[in-house]
Formats: sequence, structure tokens, C-alpha cells
Amino acid sequence: MSARRADCIVVGNGVIGMSIAYELARRAPGTSVLIVGPAQRAGAASVAAGAMLNCFGEVTKYTLLSPAGQAKFQLCKDALDAWPDWRAGLAEASGNGELGAGAPTGTTVLLNAKSGHLDDENFAALLSAAAKFDEPHEEIDPEDVVGLRPLAEARPLRAVHLPREGAIDAREVLAALERALAELTVGTVDDQVAGVETSGGRVTGVRLAGGEVLACDSVVLAAGAFSRSLLDVLPPGSVPPVLCGKGIAVETVRQAHPGFQHVVRTPNRSGSCGLHLVPQGDGVEYIGATNLVYSAPAYVQDVGMSEFLVQVAREQLDQRLFFSDVRRWLVGNRPVAVDGYPLIGRTSVAGLTVVAGTYRDGFHCSPEIARLVVDDLLGGASLAEALPHFTPERRPIESLTVEEAVKEFAFHGVSAAIEAGLRLPSHTDTSLFEGHYQAAARGFYDGLEHPVGLAPEIILAIMSDPDAKTLVTDYLVASHRHYGGLS
Ligand SMILES: Cc1cc2nc3c(=O)[nH]c(=O)nc-3n(C[C@H](O)[C@H](O)[C@H](O)COP(=O)(O)OP(=O)(O)OC[C@H]3O[C@@H](n4cnc5c(N)ncnc54)[C@H](O)[C@@H]3O)c2cc1C
Repeated sequence: MSARRADCIVVGNGVIGMSIAYELARRAPGTSVLIVGPAQRAGAASVAAGAMLNCFGEVTKYTLLSPAGQAKFQLCKDALDAWPDWRAGLAEASGNGELGAGAPTGTTVLLNAKSGHLDDENFAALLSAAAKFDEPHEEIDPEDVVGLRPLAEARPLRAVHLPREGAIDAREVLAALERALAELTVGTVDDQVAGVETSGGRVTGVRLAGGEVLACDSVVLAAGAFSRSLLDVLPPGSVPPVLCGKGIAVETVRQAHPGFQHVVRTPNRSGSCGLHLVPQGDGVEYIGATNLVYSAPAYVQDVGMSEFLVQVAREQLDQRLFFSDVRRWLVGNRPVAVDGYPLIGRTSVAGLTVVAGTYRDGFHCSPEIARLVVDDLLGGASLAEALPHFTPERRPIESLTVEEAVKEFAFHGVSAAIEAGLRLPSHTDTSLFEGHYQAAARGFYDGLEHPVGLAPEIILAIMSDPDAKTLVTDYLVASHRHYGGLS
């Protein structure tokens, strides 16, 4: 029996891999495409996502400060423009003319006093970006937000509505992509890839968990938070390792009305994507999402963060959520590169493209990423030109100095403590906590030979997960050796 082969094998059946396979098969009908990934998608980010289609809603005070941050913002902005056509095309290709029909349009971002000054700064950055880029937006009276009834102490001070930024049902999109791929005769393999096969510096295929080798000319590695071990084919230290941003969300069914009409959310906060609620039609509401970063993927929700999520949603959004039925819990692992930026591009192994590390807005960015990757695969504009910052083989991107990272870690720690209900004796203030967090972060950095400014959630991961600490520490040494050379 001859070995199975394809022109291109896409590894990973989340929204990124499926969107790329769909775009490639659609634009190059003569190209044979296989997509490999377990049908159940346990722990996949795409299945758990609230799939907010937010660009400006995601802006933080850091977004536009660095060239890499600006490039990421541009990707998100292009994706915002791309979604209407992408959705229409996918509706047609999948035969689901109703795709996205029940999805909410518009996102209202709330500024409340439950997370310290971090929210103020991120809210101001959002308004400033919306004004700078002429994005339609309107400051509204929080009293006018239908469905909002927080505790008095958590009521919003300000609110801004972004009419172009909504959400889509992630599970519906994945089902539509599956149907579209079947229509385009893209083969699917319900299995895991154990490794990328190479010969003479170029890709020759992939090895499945059971040992079978599938032959191909090119591989697109898009296995989300599960990508790390598959990147072993590249030199040690050459690629920022991918960690797992464990996210918990819950779908509820409204019993006490009216419920929300638009996506409502806070700014990004405390190393996370902010509290959000996505109305999905027929009283179903998606409430998300927690984010704690670990070295290994998680598959079940934990009591602590589940309790926290429900509590903050009830207190900050609508106390009547108390009466909602729980439909199901969702758990997924956001793919987060150690430096926080996407890994998108060709590699030093000819024929191997990596697309991972999309972190908290990969669903939103998926149409634009698919377009850019397929442009590159078909010999059009190269990824190296389109997204030079995100080339997978790179030094870690540093958008913070080490000192800024230490301070930001403390700032986020205090914000998280305030959101969790911190009350202090009146003779002290939060500077006590800031000092504690700063000392902890400095302790980590003092042990490093080649320190790099890292995001707060990565520093927290290092402090709470010994495997994450080893992984990041080893990587920074290997990266320095690979790019800088040890003195
Ligand atoms: C709770 C939560 C909420 C989120 N909310 C939003 C949001 O509102 N908006 C937004 O834009 N983004 C959001 N995100 C982020 C978004 O979901 C991710 O950025 C995006 O889904 C990543 O897609 P992916 O295909 O790279 O990874 P995944 O969806 O994780 O897919 C990877 C796939 O690879 C498969 N796989 C694993 N190992 C192998 C292997 N060895 N071989 C082959 N296949 C393998 C897995 O089964 C999985 O199906 C959220 C994420 C979470 C967890």
C-alpha cells in the first residue's frame, strides 16, 4: 500500500488550521490539502472561545507603543475589516446561509472601579486609538446599557460603544469550516502528529502518533497551545516556546430578564482578556474568561477560577445572572508565546510554516492570518514582508524593559487583588502589595543571566508553575546562546 501524501499538510484543526486549509483549498483548487487533528479537540482554544471580534476593544496602554505592538494592532484591524466578507464566503461555502445570523453586533466597553487604575489607563488608550484611527465609537451613559445591573459598588463610571465590534459563535464557525472543507474535498485525519519529518533541511512529511508517516511538500504547523513539542525540529532557543493560557468560560441560559443586547466587556485587565458577556440568542449568554498561564494544557475547569468568574460577572454585569441556568462549562488553552506575540511565518526548515501564539484574539484574527499565510504559500506577498516582527525564529520581542516588567507585574497584581475584593486597614494602602509583588518579580530576575522584560501573566506563570519556570529560564539561556552567543 502506498503512503498517504498531500501537497500541503496542516497540523491542527482549530480555527487557525481550518481557516488556512479552507483558504488554500478555495484559492488553489489543484492543491491537495490534508488537515490533521483529533476530532474531539480536547483543550483547544477555538472551542472555548467567546469569539469576540474585537480590535479596539482589546487595546491597552501598551498596544501602540512598540513596533511589534503596532504590527499586531494592524493585523487585528485588518481582520475587523475582513470579517463581513469572510463570514459571507464561509456561509456560502458551507451551505449555512444562517451563519452568524444570531451573533451580536456591537461591543460596549465598561469602565468600572473594580480593577484599580489599570482599567483607567487601558480605557483611555482605547478611546485614543479609536479617535486616531477614525473607528466609529460613542461614549454612552452606562445607565443606557440594556441588561446592566451590577452591584452599586461595581457600577460603571463610563462606557463606550463600538458598533463594528461584535462576536460570532465559535462552535458554529468551526462546524461551517468543517462543512466547507468537506465540500472542497480537503482530507481530514483524526489523529495527532508526533513529529515533523525532514530530510536535507526540508520537510518531507509528518509522523502520526501511531507511527504512520504522511508525505507532503509543505507543512503548516497550527496546533495552538499544543505546538511546543512539534517545534523541536527547529534549533534550541530559536523560537519563543508556546505556553498554555488556561481559559474558563460558562454558557448560561437566562431566566431573569432582560439580558444583554450587545457584547459587554471591561478593558483587558490583570493579565487577562477582561470580563465579558456575549449574548448568543434565545437567552444563551457566554460569560468569559479567566486566564492563568501554565506550561501544560488543562482540560477541566477548577473550582477557584470558576467561582471567581461567576462572582465577578454577577457583581459587575448583572446580579440577575444568579438565576440563570448553567448550560455548560468551557475550558481551552490559549496559545501564548513567551514574549506574548504571534509566531507566524516560514522557518529555516524549507517547507515548514508555523502559525501559533495567537493568544487571546486568534479567533478574531483568523481570516486575515489565513489570507496572509495562503498568499505566502501560493508565491504572493511573503509572510516575512507582511509580518516581519512575527517570524517564528526570532529573539524574544521585548516591549517592556525588565524594570517596567517588574512594575507592571505589581500593578496587575494589585488590580487583580482589588477585583477579588481587597480591603486593607485604613493606615495602609496598596503600595504594600506593590512592594511585595515587585520583590517577588525581582527575585526571579535576579536569578537570570540574560533577563528579558516579560508580560505580567508570564511572570506569574513562572512563580506558580515550576515547570514553566524551568522552561522559560532554559529558553532564555538557549535563546541567548543561539542569537547572542555566550560571552
Ligand atoms: C476561554 C477563551 C476565550 C477566548 N476568547 C476569544 C475571543 O473572544 N476572541 C478571540 O479572537 N479569541 C479568543 N480566544 C483565543 C482564541 O481562541 C485562540 O487565539 C485561537 O482559537 C487559537 O486557535 P488555534 O487554532 O491556533 O488553536 P486551537 O484552537 O487550540 O487548535 C489547535 C488544534 O490542534 C489540535 N492538536 C493538538 N495537538 C495536535 C497534534 N499533535 N497534532 C495535530 N493536531 C493537534 C488540537 O486538538 C486543536 O484542535 C479565547 C481563548 C479561550 C481559551
